[in-house]
Amino acid sequence: MIVIFLGPPGAGKGTQAAHIVERFKIPQLSTGDMLRAARDAGTPVGLKAKAIMDAGNLVSDDIVAAIIEERIEAEDCAKGFLLDGFPRTIPQAEMLDDMLSKKGLAVDVVIELKVDEAALIERLRTRIKETLAAGREVRGDDNEETFAKRLGVYREQTAPLIPYYEKQGKLSAVDGMGTVTAVSAGIDAILDPIWTEK
Ligand code: AMP
Repeated sequence: MIVIFLGPPGAGKGTQAAHIVERFKIPQLSTGDMLRAARDAGTPVGLKAKAIMDAGNLVSDDIVAAIIEERIEAEDCAKGFLLDGFPRTIPQAEMLDDMLSKKGLAVDVVIELKVDEAALIERLRTRIKETLAAGREVRGDDNEETFAKRLGVYREQTAPLIPYYEKQGKLSAVDGMGTVTAVSAGIDAILDPIWTEK
């Protein structure tokens, strides 16, 4: 089962991804996490990505597509995977369709987490406070200025994926404003029948 998570930054994709991983035992492939790992390891790709990420911009389509193409070859992806944060542009979605079709695979479903943008900034403030209170380091791109930039980038470059997947008949929307449990239940209602079919 190949699932894509769509939604603006701060919509709760990471939280819900953990739920899906637990329920279906498929890995979460987060290009954001992979780029942060590359940055922390100081690889050439990671170092190049750091400045772009801190500014709230998108890393090049070719770089992220290559990272995903390599990752889906791993054995733990054999039963499917959850894409979190990829694709983020139409060219990335086209590259994904191509790489999957070469393997005789296709995206099964795209879950759009629908959220009220005004509430996102409040969530961000809470997340920063909680992270600091727990004595952990706040992500370099977790500040209001970069967040506003990321939201703009989402609207311009990622939101066009909604009609793209709608046309393919793969889009399912979930209300992302409820409690974590309610959102998970909405996601399960979409994924359970697809999982059973596979
Ligand atoms: P995320 O953790 O998904 O919010 O990603 C953090 C940052 O990593 C983004 O703001 C981008 O700079 C970069 N990034 C993650 N995924 C992608 C992608 N699919 N395409 C381009 N840039 C990405």
